[in-house]
Amino acid sequence: MTQPQPDPTPELSLVIPVFNEGDNIDALAERVQPVLERCASSFEVIFVDDGSRDDTLARIRALNARDPRWRAVSFSRNFGKEIAIAAGLDHAHGRAVVIMDADLQHPPEMIETFVTHWRDGYLMVYGQRTDRVADGPLRRGLTRVFYRLFQAFGETPLPEGAGDFRLLDRKAVDALRQMGERARFSKGLYAWIGFRQIGVPFEVAARTHGQSKFDARKLFRFAFDGITSFSTLPLKLWTYVGVGVSVLAFLFAVYFIIETMIRGVDVPGFASLIVSVMFFSGVQLISLGVIGEYIGRIFAEVKRRPLYIVGDSVGLDDPALQQARPAGPERRKA
Ligand code: UDP
Ligand code: MG
Repeated sequence: MTQPQPDPTPELSLVIPVFNEGDNIDALAERVQPVLERCASSFEVIFVDDGSRDDTLARIRALNARDPRWRAVSFSRNFGKEIAIAAGLDHAHGRAVVIMDADLQHPPEMIETFVTHWRDGYLMVYGQRTDRVADGPLRRGLTRVFYRLFQAFGETPLPEGAGDFRLLDRKAVDALRQMGERARFSKGLYAWIGFRQIGVPFEVAARTHGQSKFDARKLFRFAFDGITSFSTLPLKLWTYVGVGVSVLAFLFAVYFIIETMIRGVDVPGFASLIVSVMFFSGVQLISLGVIGEYIGRIFAEVKRRPLYIVGDSVGLDDPALQQARPAGPERRKA
């Protein structure tokens, strides 16, 4: 195989977050390569190795040895997919960037359609999953609940079924790179930045190897991050609950005063007293908990730690490449 000469500013960058995906890398490269050759004048692939403990990075190195357009940044530990995406955008040189999962759940052939729409003038083209059979019934149900909640609470409407599988124009990439938040909910950020967008429906395939890296705990954390970073309604809600409860308490007081005046002193039931005390302590604890969630996030933000730590990289040391990369936003320079 002749070594293709890498272009420092390729037309297309493909960003793929990988966490213990060793078994998927070769199959992925085989499916992706012809698509990229077909639809872009020049391309690069940036893997973001999110602290894998298997042979993921070794396999990427082997790919890079054959074709220097396959590159990687490798985190010092697992930082999570959202942060891996942010790092991918930081290290991509392309005039457009496509983000894709490594497990071939996102059909690579769709990239061609994405690029066509991009050339037609759309600055963001997102894949819209038509069904979620690839996820189990419980995850599907909870996902639906989450989107309902997000719709109700969020100030940013999310397009139906749109995920991370998407193409972003350089302008959109630069806009996203300005968002310095640590609790990242990319889906919300994509919607927030605006630009001319279009959705392309696609069917999610089954995972080729291995299992989903998202367990229930990670998904709940993710859902919480999503709602809290796009809405302050959970915080403000307690004002209304408090007002409602106070009005109710006032009405009760009036009722009891009148009742005592008419019927004299009565020995009130103990049960109702205990129940109401417990109920209202519960309400107070929940509201404190919600405030705590937000304070925790404020704390995480004000520490201003870097978003991720790069431990290693593959094929990114070329000085021509480093020059080609647009300068990072202020926050990452610190
Ligand atoms: N991933 C990652 N870091 C993580 C979890 C996942 O980079 O902490 C990557 C993973 O390797 C894959 C993509 O994110 O390329 C989607 O993950 P997965 O397929 O496990 O999620 P699902 O398809 O179940 O949403
Ligand atoms: Mg998957």
